[in-house]
Amino acid sequence: MSITDNLQKLTSDIPAHVSIVAVSKRKSVEEILEAYHAGHRVFGENRVQELTEKQALLPVDIQWHMVGHLQTNKVKYLIGFVNFIQSVDSLKLLQTINREALKVNRIIPCLLQVQIAREDTKFGFSEGEIKVLADSSEFRSLQNVSINGVMGMATYTPDMEQVRSEFRYLSEVFRNLKNKYFDSSPDFREISMGMSGDYTVAIEEGSTMVRLGTVIFGARNY
Ligand SMILES: *Cc1c(COP(=O)(O)O)cnc(C)c1O
Repeated sequence: MSITDNLQKLTSDIPAHVSIVAVSKRKSVEEILEAYHAGHRVFGENRVQELTEKQALLPVDIQWHMVGHLQTNKVKYLIGFVNFIQSVDSLKLLQTINREALKVNRIIPCLLQVQIAREDTKFGFSEGEIKVLADSSEFRSLQNVSINGVMGMATYTPDMEQVRSEFRYLSEVFRNLKNKYFDSSPDFREISMGMSGDYTVAIEEGSTMVRLGTVIFGARNY
């Protein structure tokens, strides 16, 4: 199946209220263009250098999501064009995004990354840390970031019941935060969860945004 076929099948299978971020890391500009010509506009990358190089070569109406760990000293390279930063995992990072966004007069949609995997290898806040963050005056003073929801990655395991329980937990964290801090914020509405191996479970557990690489572009050659 071609990239075009894969995208057509996915867009017909996945409910319309769930958006698809095509994760194009390690894939070529030509492969991204095939997806673009099939009508897709939302792409995700996990490394700043790869993202900036591709952005410079590809159509300007692509919406780029940063989905990987972001170092504060690299925020300045993507602040001018990035459409979504899904991987906010510290107040310091959020403050840096805010400061750089102010310089270029932009408001950057961000997701708070929550550590939901049982394995301790992934980045992200605990629910308690987000509550401390949301209660802080530093957080409330940020004017150039828009907190649009949460993102999480489940444990990499074939045990789909464990994966399901981690996604269910992320949905619960989202609802708790929505009720306590973001009730009057219509922008706080995204639960980004689900990758090629687990997106159907993620959608059943309330995902609004899936991040798909392999099922669109095929396996990556690292
Ligand atoms: C690579 C990656 C994906 C996509 O992974 P696939 O399993 O290829 O769909 C999704 N989210 C993040 C954060 C990634 O780094």
